Amino acid sequence: MAIVGRPNVGKSTIFNRIAGDRISIVEDTPGVTRDRIYAHGEWLGTEFSMIDTGGIDIGDEPFLKQITEQAEIAIDEADVIVFVVSAREGLADADERVAKILYRADKPVILAVNKADNPEQRQDIYDFYALGFGDPYPISGAHGLGLGDLLDAVVQSFPSEDQSVEDDSIRFSLIGRPNVGKSSLVNALLGEDRVIVSDIAGTTRDAIDTKFTDNTGTEFTMVDTAGIRKRGKVYENTEKYSVMRAMKAIDNSDVVLVVLNAEEGIREQDKKVAGYAHEAGRGIIIVVNKWDTLKKNNHSLHDFELHIREEFQYLAYAPIIFVSAVTHQRLGDLPELIKKVSQNHAKRVQSATLNDVIMDAVAMHPTPSENGKRMRIFYATQVAIQPPTFVIFVNEPELMHFSYERYLENQIREHFDFTGTPIHLIERRRK
Ligand code: GDP
Ligand code: GDP
Repeated sequence: MAIVGRPNVGKSTIFNRIAGDRISIVEDTPGVTRDRIYAHGEWLGTEFSMIDTGGIDIGDEPFLKQITEQAEIAIDEADVIVFVVSAREGLADADERVAKILYRADKPVILAVNKADNPEQRQDIYDFYALGFGDPYPISGAHGLGLGDLLDAVVQSFPSEDQSVEDDSIRFSLIGRPNVGKSSLVNALLGEDRVIVSDIAGTTRDAIDTKFTDNTGTEFTMVDTAGIRKRGKVYENTEKYSVMRAMKAIDNSDVVLVVLNAEEGIREQDKKVAGYAHEAGRGIIIVVNKWDTLKKNNHSLHDFELHIREEFQYLAYAPIIFVSAVTHQRLGDLPELIKKVSQNHAKRVQSATLNDVIMDAVAMHPTPSENGKRMRIFYATQVAIQPPTFVIFVNEPELMHFSYERYLENQIREHFDFTGTPIHLIERRRK
């Protein structure tokens, strides 16, 4: 779902209200700043992602050009468009301008009249019928009024997903800032020896997934290859747009290849993009591309690896592969690595073995204690996959330390191969 409308009608207020605290970025991930234009929402059991197009500003373009581009982003990216106008200011020329662009969309448009804070203002919605989008929904983003009815309409307008096609393929995406070599890697990976099974049109017009099989017969789906190919629209060069696109691709993947450029080293935007993949709990592989451009000695690979480990400390679990889309160096190893990470991401371990590992860990390093009270671990169990998630039942969850949790995670990783996947530990109280 995408939210559009001229400035100041309340788009970001509504966006934040719907996202609540489910804004998908945790602030203490290094290098990740809060970027409130893409978030997850949920209504009556339907999960959806949401874009605040107002947050994507298109360089120095004039006002009308900006709102035009934002409306086009909504048409390109969303299944359902929420068009916001304001009951306070009434119908404005700029509203009509946005409407004109939205007429071209063959997607449902729901008209929300915001700032309808009280009953009189709820009467002021009739002018907006003139926009031609049917019944307007009076809402107040500031006070959270009318959002339920609006979201009912949004959820009902989602195209019904055709999940009848069985798909066991490994879904992965390539993300990274412009020019790191994503499209070159896509082309190289889809080169001669691989069979492209089909191009599958996704829910939005140009979200195209590409399926291929490797030489062992394993099926892969490369998510959003169309997003990687440049289509030459103005807004595609804005950073917020490319970040948003990356977040969408991450959402639809099991494994994310974070592509870095060996020639330029690590930039702030690389960390941001990698942070989203980590946050989303996807399997991650760090791909250092353009390895051919470096003059190398015996230390180069090791030095570069140390540098990455230092800059991406929260990605300690992610394997690193040094490749070249031009010379195809090590590209042949990539499908196997993606497969391994995807298996680890979906791995289930046996409770008995898990508990042996935890109890051995406790025997080697006593659990934390405070004021004479010691944390006791009763047992642990894996409750989920993708990513593997473990619940540890303890007497007092508050006694768990970050460092002890890290220690347990390392012990688990030493005994089971979880290369490439984050794992989550959750403490639960049990008397
Ligand atoms: P955007 O530019 O469309 O994203 O608009 P904002 O969300 O930034 O809101 C613009 C202004 O309108 C802010 O001062 C908000 O506090 C205010 N606002 C947003 N929603 C409502 C509402 O439901 N009622 C009233 N009275 N003010 C609102
Ligand atoms: P994207 O914006 O991430 O999709 O990057 P592109 O695939 O368009 O690549 C950007 C530029 O880097 C192009 O000029 C490519 O030819 C070049 N490039 C991509 N991969 C490599 C590589 O492995 N080695 C070298 N030397 N150049 C590369």
